[in-house]
Amino acid sequence: MPGLSQRTEVFTDSVIRRMTRVSNRYGAVNLSQGFPDFDPPKELTDALMAVAPRGPHQYALTWGAQNFREALAKKQEHFSGMRVNPDEEIVVTCGSTEAMMAAMMSVCDPGDKVVVFSPFYENYGADAILSGAKPIYVPLVPPDFGFDADVLEAAIRQPGVKALILCNPSNPCGKVFTREELATIAELAIRYDIFAITDEVYEHIVYKPYEHIYMATLPGMRERTIICSSLSKTYSITGWRLGYVMAVPEVIDRVKKVHDFLTVGAAAPLMEAAVTALQSGDAYYEWLQQKYTHMKDLFVGGLKERGIVCTEPQGAYYVLVDISEFGYADDEEFCIDLAREVGVGAVPGSSFFKEDVNHLIRFHFAKQDETLKEALQRLEGIGKLKR
Ligand code: GLN
Repeated sequence: MPGLSQRTEVFTDSVIRRMTRVSNRYGAVNLSQGFPDFDPPKELTDALMAVAPRGPHQYALTWGAQNFREALAKKQEHFSGMRVNPDEEIVVTCGSTEAMMAAMMSVCDPGDKVVVFSPFYENYGADAILSGAKPIYVPLVPPDFGFDADVLEAAIRQPGVKALILCNPSNPCGKVFTREELATIAELAIRYDIFAITDEVYEHIVYKPYEHIYMATLPGMRERTIICSSLSKTYSITGWRLGYVMAVPEVIDRVKKVHDFLTVGAAAPLMEAAVTALQSGDAYYEWLQQKYTHMKDLFVGGLKERGIVCTEPQGAYYVLVDISEFGYADDEEFCIDLAREVGVGAVPGSSFFKEDVNHLIRFHFAKQDETLKEALQRLEGIGKLKR
């Protein structure tokens, strides 16, 4: 057989999705791959039913249906004050996963570098490699996952750095970046003339008193921020694969080309139905915030009551649990034992950290009360994993 690409040899398959398969194998409550087990809003499923007989069923415009982009622009203006031109500044993608990949391929050439905060969502490492770029990691330091501005500057000023990836609110550590932190990053991005590629899929899942601030709204950042986000988390439709990139026209022209040849377009009937979701009023987003606050309090509170040491998320729907006391050298082995013997699925923390971190695992809590209570009850047996 001829040789296969070296690019695809140097990273593994997704550990998050691997752990979903492990959970399924052992019949565990799957708190590994983050997706809800509750339905999307009824207006949305009704809209989906209405689309079936009338369509559209053929390709939409490659960068997304007109009404969908217009609804996205309106929503973005409502929440951030930004004016986004739906024709020149938006590309609709197959999930934020494609959005990130298309953004990286649009700005990076082989040999370029991208700065990534660690812990990070595992796709970024693979995205960087697939786009030919080398990731440089800057630690977010527990317990509040702050960063050292000098360390960040030392990374950004390296020759060949084109972009910084910012996941805000952050998966997996639940950090919500403050205005001061964003200003520090922005100042460096401007000084060293790099892009900020933001992953803002958890923009509407933030716990009081924390507040999500869009990097693109900071002075001087509009033209150098490439926003990637999606409808998956906000409207509980991870399987619809509807994401988008927003940036200035010069950037979007490139993203349009990459997207055109990667996937042609997102699913036309799903875009048509999802316009309904994008037109939701403020009450929907307040309801969502309350719903997630309830799930966080139930699950994270339940972990603490059981003496399980964990982080306090400020946003997103993940919690990191410290497993030091169990005496495992390998956190993936711990997660497999946890699924098999305790019946709860988690993701090993090592898949999110560049540093040698083996004492953390990640649970997500986008689940119905019954599911979370079942998981908590099973976790009462976690002590049997102690070595
Ligand atoms: N974002 C989710 C997670 O971190 C799901 C990722 C995925 O599988 N696309 O678990």
